Amino acid sequence: MSKYLTLGKFSFGMGDRFGHQGNAQLQACVLATKLGAEFIPVWNKSNREHTFIGTEPSSLRAEADAAVKALGWKKPYHVDADHIRLETVDRFIAPSDFFTIDVADSIAKPAAAADVKAFVDRHPELVGKISIPHIDRPFEITRVEVGRVADKFLLAVQDAGKIYQHIVATKGAANFITEVSVDETDSPQTPPELLIILAAIADQKIPIQTIAPKFTGRFNKGVDYVGDVKQFEKEFNDDLAVIAFAIKKYGLPPSLKLSVHSGSDKFSIYEPMRRALKKFGAGVHIKTAGTTWLEELIGLAEAGGDGLEIAKEIYAYAIEHVDEFCAPYASVIDIDKKKLPPASVVNGWSSKQFTDALRHDQKNPAFNPSFRQLLHVSFKVAAKKGGRYLNALKKHEAIIAKNVTENLFERHMKPLLLGK
Ligand SMILES: [Zn+2]
Repeated sequence: MSKYLTLGKFSFGMGDRFGHQGNAQLQACVLATKLGAEFIPVWNKSNREHTFIGTEPSSLRAEADAAVKALGWKKPYHVDADHIRLETVDRFIAPSDFFTIDVADSIAKPAAAADVKAFVDRHPELVGKISIPHIDRPFEITRVEVGRVADKFLLAVQDAGKIYQHIVATKGAANFITEVSVDETDSPQTPPELLIILAAIADQKIPIQTIAPKFTGRFNKGVDYVGDVKQFEKEFNDDLAVIAFAIKKYGLPPSLKLSVHSGSDKFSIYEPMRRALKKFGAGVHIKTAGTTWLEELIGLAEAGGDGLEIAKEIYAYAIEHVDEFCAPYASVIDIDKKKLPPASVVNGWSSKQFTDALRHDQKNPAFNPSFRQLLHVSFKVAAKKGGRYLNALKKHEAIIAKNVTENLFERHMKPLLLGK
């Protein structure tokens, strides 16, 4: 493996669509670190988000640097070019030091038959009975199965290798962290598939430090996990075992860990994750994004007056365009349209009614997950408001910052590392 920039054991990915919450987000890491739960902050923004908002990747670097300076943060921090591909990576190379290479589009496109055969020939250790510490039953993988998995993933991993080398050529291998993401695909990867994928990644000599598989269950935007928590826990444990095994077997970086692209707020799996991480002494990268944008809206609504007004306007526009806004997110939202209050009703709400419906407090009977998911995917409406929205963020900075920090610290970092 070539040199690489090392990522800390626990790291927290934070998205900030409008670029105003860097300080408030970093403050959550400061609070967690004080309690002994050190999270290395990573600011992530995808090409799609930049395009929707009209920002350049350099703005995220500027925001991260400014927050670190303002809070006197002395530990590492990173800027993640999230879900980049060969055709989108270039403008991210200078300002980013963390690259999430997304090769989901190449999954299931067959690699060259000769390459698949060469891969299977090169890896006789993947065939047969494979005993992995902490996995109850050894994997039984046939040669045909290795071939099938290679057929499905080898081209994707080869593409990841190309993108990695492309970044190395301009940036130098020692100056960045590499994540490979295969989460934005149809079916979850099983632990044996993960092992085969890691073998292929090692062949490409990618010093991968985080891998984002697709896990079982639904990871809807901004709401809790939907699925079989027990099954998730088993797979998560098995994935940790596979990673520890692959690090040794294939000489992958010892800092290699799972990256959970959470879609934000998967509270019910935090405790099983915490248990598993403790058991394995493993680290994790948690990626969130939209949860901060929702806290902005909550802060605005809580401020009342013009803040509440702008929050209501955003909802009114969103519900009018509900089909249009939801279509691109069909696989990551579950909105019950009958549960969406009409704009005329919401327009009469108090600050408390609005924040009760939106804030992710499942114990609050007024919490409305459909309302929350719709607003999650409606940040384009705020982007359209341009200066007016940004001015409202400035005007109500204090109350928004309080919500942003509290959300990341209390609802995410604490349960993940310290338990409730
Ligand atoms: Zn993702």
